[in-house]
Amino acid sequence: MTLRGRLTTAFLVVVLGPVLLGSIFVALTVATVSRDRTAERLDHAATTVRTGMAAACRQLQAAADAVAVVPPEQRAAVASQLITRGLATDINIGETGPSPRAAPPRPSGVTNELDGWRDCSAPAPAAGPVTAIAARAVSGEITVTAARTVDAAFLDRLASAGRADVALTTDERPGGEHRRLDAEAGQPLPLTLSVPPNRPTFLYAVLPAVVLAAALAAVLVARWLARSTTRPLGDLAWAADRVADGELDTRVPIPHPDELGRLAATFNRMTRELQAYVQALTASRDQLRGHLAILGETLSSTHDLHRILQVILRTALAATGARAGLVLLIDQPAGQLVAQCGVGLAGAWDVPDGDLPKLRLPIGEGVLGSVAATGEPRRGQGELASAEPPCLTYVAVPICAPGVPEEPGDPPPVPETLGVLALYDRVGGDTFDDSDLHTLRTFAGQAGVAVHNVRLHEEAQRLSLTDPLTGLWNYRYLRESLRREVERASRFGRMLTVLVLDLDHFKDVNDTYGHAAGDAVLGEFARRIRIGLREVDVAFRQGGEEFVVLLPETDGYGGAIVAERLGAAVRDRPIAVDGIQIPVTVSVGVAVYPEHGENSPQVLAAADRALYAAKKAGRDTYRLAEPADVTESGAPASVHEGDFDPTTAVPSAPRPPQHRRGR
Ligand code: GH3
Ligand code: MG
Ligand code: MG
Repeated sequence: MTLRGRLTTAFLVVVLGPVLLGSIFVALTVATVSRDRTAERLDHAATTVRTGMAAACRQLQAAADAVAVVPPEQRAAVASQLITRGLATDINIGETGPSPRAAPPRPSGVTNELDGWRDCSAPAPAAGPVTAIAARAVSGEITVTAARTVDAAFLDRLASAGRADVALTTDERPGGEHRRLDAEAGQPLPLTLSVPPNRPTFLYAVLPAVVLAAALAAVLVARWLARSTTRPLGDLAWAADRVADGELDTRVPIPHPDELGRLAATFNRMTRELQAYVQALTASRDQLRGHLAILGETLSSTHDLHRILQVILRTALAATGARAGLVLLIDQPAGQLVAQCGVGLAGAWDVPDGDLPKLRLPIGEGVLGSVAATGEPRRGQGELASAEPPCLTYVAVPICAPGVPEEPGDPPPVPETLGVLALYDRVGGDTFDDSDLHTLRTFAGQAGVAVHNVRLHEEAQRLSLTDPLTGLWNYRYLRESLRREVERASRFGRMLTVLVLDLDHFKDVNDTYGHAAGDAVLGEFARRIRIGLREVDVAFRQGGEEFVVLLPETDGYGGAIVAERLGAAVRDRPIAVDGIQIPVTVSVGVAVYPEHGENSPQVLAAADRALYAAKKAGRDTYRLAEPADVTESGAPASVHEGDFDPTTAVPSAPRPPQHRRGR
């Protein structure tokens, strides 16, 4: 059964029930009242009839007495007079005996003098028709009987006095309410009183009609009420269906400002807010997708660690709704956390990205320091050390290197903490929850992999550009460095000196002391080169026992001084290998850009020719290339020999080896 049907039924039960009960009550009450009124009318009629009969009997008795007391000769005259006056219809004067004579004549058909007569004083039940009532008076031997005919007129008089139909019982008529009056002293007639039934037939006819009309009206009103109640609910159900199908722009009309109207308004507000929420969620998802796409693209396309960390930080901010964030990496030797990139930081931390590495925090101190020290994430509000970025809420997780087991099947090692990723002040003021922590750990994992990969890449690149025996840059890096330095010198109008060094008779060293000893000599020679150079100078192993040194912003004189110093570094101090002193000397060719070549190959070739000249000159010496003396056949260029006195030049002070510069 539908809600509308139930409501209609309920309304009808509520309205029609009392109407029907009331109608039944009214009908019963009316019936009772009319019965009582009929009984009252019969009571009244009985009393009146009895009184009338008693009066008639007294009148007859008085007439009989009046006739009886007068002298006998006057009796007939008195009797006539009384009859004339209507005090009796018949007066009989006779001797006392059982058969008084009637005079005037008896009513026709009466054979016995008492037949049909009823004596007022001693009524006796008798069958047969009643003709009259009579009263007697005795005087001596004379009995006077006064009688009155009981006819329709007599009965009508009684009826009009009692306001009821009066009939002799023998004439009882069916129908109507009636009561019998038995004969008794003073009322000698057996009578039946009847009154018309006092039934309100009109009321009985109208009442069902009224009930029917009320029922009809109730049905119509119930249908209208149920309809007006259920229609908004139907609209709501329809709208809820559409919302469930994803059509969040569905709205329902607001019928009236009643409860259903409030329900409809609340539904509309709910769908409006749901729509706004879904739109915000979609926008946030799209934004996050964009960030993740950038993150993926960045991770796969670059080894620029700063850029990678910045993208990871921005993606983490978008994913958690944080206002600010910071990435720090551990500087292990210094025992400090070094800021790498930040977004939205306040206070002393609100500096350009380039200045962020100057901001450092000791490992173990404060929230960030403790996360770096323990590797445990932390979140909370307002308990940061004063040196840390100011904030209301925070969450910080460690950036860990991916733990890869050394052997397949081994348990993964405890991951090394590389840094800390921290977010501050979640938009909306809430503290960061477990879900934020989980998200941030994911991004920290990405950051850890990125840092690890970049460091691996740097290490691989360093290994590909360095010579494993001597630790100097290799020939590959020499070509690139020489080209770069020549370009720089060209751009700034500076000079660049190139030294090519070749150990003398190194084949003999190998032959004499063995290859391993030769390797040791090469390593020691490289070390002596490094300690004999400035910070800006770079040394390379070109191959075999040949080395190259680049001296930026140095002219030929400066180059000659360095060549001399490096020559002296081995000449003066033999190299000790396994307790054996191995004497070594080196020949050096010196060329200067732009004096001896227009580009890096030409300068290097000029230095090679100068080296050749030094060898030719007997080794353990250096030679400076001749300016612009390059032949197409690549014939050795002329070199200067001893045209300057290096002892008068100011040599550069020895510097710690800087061969790792620029890595
Ligand atoms: P020169 O004075 O004319 O330069 O004579 P040299 O013997 O040094 O020149 P040569 O080119 O004839 O020989 C170079 C030798 O250097 C040959 C090779 O055995 C040795 N050599 C090259 N690379 C290495 C190395 O990595 N380790 C060792 N132990 N020896 C090397
Ligand atoms: Mg050689
Ligand atoms: Mg050699």
